[in-house]
Amino acid sequence: MDLVIRNARLRGRQGTVDIAIAKDRIEAVLPKLEGEGGKEIDAAGDLVLPGLFNLHFHADKCLLGEVMRPNVSGTLPEAIEITNDFKRKYDPEEVAGRAVRALEAGVKNGTTFFRLFADVGTIGGLRGAQGLLLARERLRGHCDIQVVAFPQEGLARDPGAAELLDEALKLGCDIVGGLPWYEYTDADARAHIDTCFELAKRHDRDIHMLVDDTDDENSRSLEYLALKAMREGFNGRVAASHCGAMAAYNDVYAAKIVDMVATAGVTISCNAHINLVCSARLDREPRRRGIARVKELLARGVNVVSAQDDVNDPYYPFGKPDPLECVSMVAHVAQLTLPHEIEQAMDMVTVNSAKAARIADYGIAAGCRADLVVVAAPSVHEAVRLQPIRRHVIKSGREVARSVLTQELLR
Ligand SMILES: [Zn+2]
Repeated sequence: MDLVIRNARLRGRQGTVDIAIAKDRIEAVLPKLEGEGGKEIDAAGDLVLPGLFNLHFHADKCLLGEVMRPNVSGTLPEAIEITNDFKRKYDPEEVAGRAVRALEAGVKNGTTFFRLFADVGTIGGLRGAQGLLLARERLRGHCDIQVVAFPQEGLARDPGAAELLDEALKLGCDIVGGLPWYEYTDADARAHIDTCFELAKRHDRDIHMLVDDTDDENSRSLEYLALKAMREGFNGRVAASHCGAMAAYNDVYAAKIVDMVATAGVTISCNAHINLVCSARLDREPRRRGIARVKELLARGVNVVSAQDDVNDPYYPFGKPDPLECVSMVAHVAQLTLPHEIEQAMDMVTVNSAKAARIADYGIAAGCRADLVVVAAPSVHEAVRLQPIRRHVIKSGREVARSVLTQELLR
């Protein structure tokens, strides 16, 4: 036993347990472990979770809010325009420097797995992707990182971007990104999705697209994405982020789409933070939330995740980043307030994300990867309510972050 975590409270289990870790694996989980570990951590009755996920993060653009002008309209198109100015002079070293700062903050908050979106297109070339691949090297041992080759300016709208995506995948990017709703026509959106599947098949990669990130009820690329996932044999290998147009669909069409998404095994990523500030900017009152139909998706058994899209950039000026904040945000916006619903929200940054990333050895049981977080709260409910410090963060059996907080009421 290289490391033992004592007195850990686990989800869905009475009492406390000790967790024995040997090298990068969990060796045993028992009410009381005999013997002593090379290193010991006392969870003192606090909740221990498996490592947390952020499955959708534009780390190449993070912290640009420190150097760029604010987004006056608050809309996505203006954010894209502002960022393009900066991307013309993207430098991989500079991108990696910003990304590492934000990723380190995420690790301190218990994130042990990130899926990072790198803009790939004719404006910034491959430099964003090169920057995030560098960041991945620098944080090796602290967290797992997947890099998505993401065509932020579209494919039909940005001739040459498809070839650059191909290059980015050869360079080491793990996932094929996409942005079909941003194309000018439905035909172009479908061609965009076709191209992404061709690339995914050629390189044997999974797909994660940003889909229907608009209030327009006519934005319907999720339908075609789900259809392609079924027809191309990509069940369980496709994720769709945002899907805010679902909020505008009529209920009958929405029910059909929820059913198609479930049948196709498409994961839906809800990025509540950014959609709450960017969506419905053209609405008067009442304003839509601009969020995918989370409760209907959950009821149909769809794999739903919650992720931190942006950290202080022209799209969104906040972001810690912290997966527990993502749980709280999705619980608010999707009205997940009952005890079992709060658990469902917690699943979104843990087991559901692991399923989307197709990680089989995830969890707190003998044989699982030793990625663990000691949260300074005794239950899931309190963890979401307080978003307290993560006392210890363990990655592959090694403690990689530690937090201590002293608060005192003075009289
Ligand atoms: Zn995004």
